[in-house]
Amino acid sequence: MYKIAVLPGDGIGPEIVPEAIKVLEAVSRLYDIEFQYTEALIGGAAIDKRGQALPPETLELCYQSDAVLLGSVGGPKWDTLPAEKRPETAALLPLRKKLGLYANLRPAYLFAPLAEASPLKKEVVSGTDLLIVRELTGGLYFGEKKREKTVTGEVAYDTMVYTTEEIERIVRLAFTIARQRRRHLTSVDKANVLTSSRLWRDTVERLKNEYPDVTVTHMYVDNCAMQLVRRPDQFDVIVTENTFGDILSDQASVLTGSLGMIPSASIGGRVALYEPAGGSAPDIAGQQKANPLAMILSAAMMLKYSFKLDQAAAAVESAVDRVLAEGYRTQDIYSPGTKVVGTAAMGDLVRQELERETRWKKS
Ligand code: NAD
Repeated sequence: MYKIAVLPGDGIGPEIVPEAIKVLEAVSRLYDIEFQYTEALIGGAAIDKRGQALPPETLELCYQSDAVLLGSVGGPKWDTLPAEKRPETAALLPLRKKLGLYANLRPAYLFAPLAEASPLKKEVVSGTDLLIVRELTGGLYFGEKKREKTVTGEVAYDTMVYTTEEIERIVRLAFTIARQRRRHLTSVDKANVLTSSRLWRDTVERLKNEYPDVTVTHMYVDNCAMQLVRRPDQFDVIVTENTFGDILSDQASVLTGSLGMIPSASIGGRVALYEPAGGSAPDIAGQQKANPLAMILSAAMMLKYSFKLDQAAAAVESAVDRVLAEGYRTQDIYSPGTKVVGTAAMGDLVRQELERETRWKKS
């Protein structure tokens, strides 16, 4: 039995999380696996009810679980709070840090039926199937920072700090993942300008000898940003530091049509965290307009990375593919000639497709 901490959070979170659970329940029946779900508060919902974004009982539940499934946090209601109290900074960053989640995995995979929903030309995005491995607990977001008054105004700085150990563990993880895919690793840095990037590149160069079956390419981050929209099919696994990864993974997300299609996994500790790449989407929250597929695909990543249920994960992904091939869309991925459905209806369709296909394969 696997224990799952369920943290719906804010905005569209409480709408999309039940759809992922619906699909997990079907997996449970079809593959004879038991999941136990325990729900807890996080983000703005936790601020409202408990006075803090990450209450101790939520953290304790995460520690006691085998994996965490998170909807999203934040929204306009809490935007005016001081930075250190806001849902993202006060809930997500400490949660990732406390769980020791140093790697964020974000796939950008183009489901063929969605080629029309991409802002790029079909011939450019066709064949996109990449995974960004982003370092999550070091670099610019965690280095020393300061803002202070000077005689003429103010001065502010942030520092990008990396140690050999931090780089080694994320790069090793990326090599291991590349081995399970097409064995091509692109290491992204800014080694022509940044000292921390030079250490990054030297470390990759040293480690690559241990993975002779993986091809390594180094790329500057500015070039990578351009290549992602020019020829995304050249990438398999991209490994990069925190800030570059934050920006590149959002850029990569639109290749495949919508933020509502991109799952993510934060791994590295005993308990991993799975959440959609997008935020709480306050503009559409509470209207059954949110795309639940990123959440459902995040649950599929949980099956694969936390529970090693690769077959069940692949079955969920292919159920999503078939629902899209049948022409069903949420509004964010709509294109003329397709059928718009709401959040819960999309979850039902994936569940039905999963049940149909799995029964057929088993019979
Ligand atoms: P957002 O990702 O919430 O929304 C950006 C756009 O993408 C919106 O138009 C939204 O409708 C759309 N979108 C996102 N997910 C979607 C889905 N599943 N289906 C359909 N459309 C979807 O980003 P934002 O507007 O910059 O931020 C809104 C709030 O979310 C802020 O409070 C921010 O702090 C928070 N946020 C949280 C997380 C997280 O929980 N991990 C991440 C990013 C932003």
